[in-house]
Amino acid sequence: MNKVKFFDYLQQYKIIENEITSAVSRVLNSGQLILGKEVSAFEEEFGAFLEGEGSCVGVANGTDALVIALTALDIARNHEVITVANTAVPTVSAIRQAGATPVFCDIDPRTCLIDLNQIENHITSSTRAIIAVHLYGNVVDIPKLKRIIGDRSIAIIEDCAQAHGAKLRGVAAGTMGDISAFSFYPTKNLGAYGDAGLCYSRDPNLVTEMKRIRMYGFNENNCSLREGINSRLDELQAAILRVKLKHLPAHIENRRILAELYSSYLPEDAVQVPADTDVNHANHLFVIKIKNRDRVKAELSNRAIDTAIHYPTPIHRMEAYRFLNYDEGDLPETNLAASSVLSLPLYPELSQESVLTVCNELSNVLA
Ligand SMILES: *Cc1c(COP(=O)(O)O)cnc(C)c1O
Repeated sequence: MNKVKFFDYLQQYKIIENEITSAVSRVLNSGQLILGKEVSAFEEEFGAFLEGEGSCVGVANGTDALVIALTALDIARNHEVITVANTAVPTVSAIRQAGATPVFCDIDPRTCLIDLNQIENHITSSTRAIIAVHLYGNVVDIPKLKRIIGDRSIAIIEDCAQAHGAKLRGVAAGTMGDISAFSFYPTKNLGAYGDAGLCYSRDPNLVTEMKRIRMYGFNENNCSLREGINSRLDELQAAILRVKLKHLPAHIENRRILAELYSSYLPEDAVQVPADTDVNHANHLFVIKIKNRDRVKAELSNRAIDTAIHYPTPIHRMEAYRFLNYDEGDLPETNLAASSVLSLPLYPELSQESVLTVCNELSNVLA
């Protein structure tokens, strides 16, 4: 029996190998490995992909993109940043790296996104930002979030690590908040062959600050105007990302077709985590909710189907974040999701046949 892998970059690499090797060779023969033509070209091209009016700043990874976004907004010690505990650890680790305190808001049980109706309860005089995580490729309603914030000076950072290509009412995820942070970790919708990330903003001053922060806070004369870090995107990854960006719309379309196939063939007891009708889901992950999740996951694995859980332990219950003083039972909807969500294999090269196999085996396991 052929194993259905959860993620497999090699299938795609074999298809684009020639384009990749020529891009890599172009960089190696260029004499410039750091912050050169490839990075600026990728920044331009990714900005065009987003169809927004802002600019991009290539950085080393998605976590740094969030840290740099927070730092550019002058968010530091004694400040609070509202986000969710149902996210990848980097969302929260970035808030800590910036020196601020994460404050967790529970999620909407239907979409598993931040529950905008509860935001108000978490806003204090120390709140400086909200990191809205566009989880799974779905989109948080940023215009609605803006209305909730009103005229308070609270910035919106979009965590777009899972949302390349997602749209809300025709507007790209990443172009609605003050700053957005993208990750190009290999498994993401747009994945590098290593680590890479990017910040985006419509505010030219924030863009300038972020460009400084990614390289020691330097001005043109290599003097630090502010304290920065080293978080550069390198030329090799930028050249690889330029190749893969050309294929991204087609890859997202494949994801959409496969996700639709899943939706039509899922057994009744497996409930898809939905998006609202005004969202173009980027289908980064195909997530269902089921009873006896751990047993189902193990039995699928026995049937050669790999699945994953995003996320099994909410961050407020992790050892490292105990000092934030949450109780296990806080954030009840987050806890409930953590015990029932299961992510099924989904990537552009996955065959339709494999999707049907997964649905069949899932029916058998649930029967
Ligand atoms: C992957 C991911 C990140 C971090 O990206 P890295 O490039 O791995 O640092 C941040 N937030 C979310 C929601 C992610 O899925």
